[in-house]
Amino acid sequence: MTETLRPKVLVVGGGPGGYVAAIRAGQLGLDTVLVESGRLGGTCLTRGCIPSKALIHAAGLYEEAVLAAGEAGRFGIHLMQTPELRFDETIGWKDGIVDRLSGGVGGLLRKAKVKTVNGWARFSDAKTCMVDTADGLVMIRAEHVILATGSTAVALPFLPFGDRVISSTEALSLAEVPKTLAVVGGGYIGLELGIAYAKLGCKVTIVEAQDRILPLYDAALTAPVLRWLEKHGVTVHLGARALGQDAEGLLIETAGGQSRLTIPADRILVTVGRKPLTEGWGLEQMALAMDGRFVKIDDRCATSTTHVWAIGDLVGEPMLAHKASAQGEMVAEIIAGHRRRFDPVAIAAVCFTEPEIVSVGLTPDQAPEGIDTVVGQFPFQANGRALSMQAGDDGGFVRVLARKSDHRILGIQAVGRHCSELAGEFATLMEMGAVLEDVAGTIHVHPTLGEAIHESALKALGHAIHI
Ligand code: FAD
Ligand code: NAD
Repeated sequence: MTETLRPKVLVVGGGPGGYVAAIRAGQLGLDTVLVESGRLGGTCLTRGCIPSKALIHAAGLYEEAVLAAGEAGRFGIHLMQTPELRFDETIGWKDGIVDRLSGGVGGLLRKAKVKTVNGWARFSDAKTCMVDTADGLVMIRAEHVILATGSTAVALPFLPFGDRVISSTEALSLAEVPKTLAVVGGGYIGLELGIAYAKLGCKVTIVEAQDRILPLYDAALTAPVLRWLEKHGVTVHLGARALGQDAEGLLIETAGGQSRLTIPADRILVTVGRKPLTEGWGLEQMALAMDGRFVKIDDRCATSTTHVWAIGDLVGEPMLAHKASAQGEMVAEIIAGHRRRFDPVAIAAVCFTEPEIVSVGLTPDQAPEGIDTVVGQFPFQANGRALSMQAGDDGGFVRVLARKSDHRILGIQAVGRHCSELAGEFATLMEMGAVLEDVAGTIHVHPTLGEAIHESALKALGHAIHI
């Protein structure tokens, strides 16, 4: 027998977009059902942000231990034995974090009185879907539908996923560290995971189609990462094209088609972007307007069909968890009758490479034409806390861009070890419409990396103290 549910709100997808929308809707007293086919937490919690950061952390500890066991030791610390990596235990520890977080999301949904249905939703019209669950078919007919189906990895036709060609999902659950890893795509995932595997002792080669890594960021910001890669024996082929694979590894054509070579690879990690998950759930039944590959929305996340909303990776760039959550929270409030618009001044992004990169707002080369700007850049090498935690080792810095006329901050970036935690202050400054004098007049705690933000503003004002 088919069970029928008639909630006020149906959320499809239990990632950071969908589960936050559902919790907020529940908190606001809306009768809410969340459908998720996999585990609660979606890509982010189960095979994205969190497991990748856990692996990155463990890889960093292992690398430090290996260095401490070397002849030179590490800060006077000498390990008398080479550390042993039991990678299955590392993966087990990472899985434990995922279990805890996914279970936690389940608890939060229950607390908000959201009903969770486990299965794949298929729409027959814009407001009706069927879900095949372990306990039978469930039909859900809702007044409001929030689509939060997320995204999946883009595959290359000549390197389909399978066997040794893997996506980030498999890279986060390998049975052992491969001896050699070829990474196709030097963007967020390729670099975050490539660097982690290099620290775990794998010989990593990165193949990037454009003429620099992380093309989203400017060259000054990525230079410290390139320096780290060079120093740690990671080979980077820029402007190169992957062609396919042979018995030994990955076939590529180097920049300008100069030569062809095979990169030895036990595993080939393809990280050439992600695409919205728009297939297999009945999008075509819903008559939604599209914006290229993405579902088209307005500034309230409303689609072209009344009371059908869409959020997160499904609706476009930036494909980031915090954007998905912010949209989810907003849509729930709109359905509850609040007046809201999705209009952030800027959305901060962090790349958890070595060193880390944080960026919010405009970079100097994106400064609007016809507007005079000032830039203040302060090196972490001149910051005591940074030196004590090696945050400036590969040339890291904080850089602020402001309008010359009124000193309004237009963008802030940083590159350096551990600097991801600066993202919150950067975003707050942008959202509050801060001017350089606001930062200069704020007493920053000593000794912290945050002092470099203060100094970058002082530099832009022409009177930095420590350089
Ligand atoms: P998702 O998290 O993809 O969730 C969608 C959910 O919907 C999935 O659980 C899926 O099973 C479910 N679903 C889809 N269709 C149906 C259906 N028909 N029926 C039932 N369920 C369905 N972002 C950051 O901000 N910071 C990071 O550090 C970061 N690291 C990342 C690392 C990796 C390796 C990857 C792959 C991504 C990373 N991201 C990061 C991106 C981030 O994971 C996504 O932006 C975010 O998860 C998008 O959230 P979402 O809710 O839109 O979709
Ligand atoms: P990406 O867009 O960050 O990088 C893809 C890279 O692959 C680009 O540099 C591109 O030039 C390159 N490329 C494309 N086709 C290629 C080809 N045929 N050969 C060689 N290189 C090629 O994509 P991603 O790394 O797959 O990550 C997907 C998304 O996930 C990101 O855009 C981001 O939104 C999200 N993400 C965020 C974080 C974070 O916030 N720290 C971490 C991981 C992922």
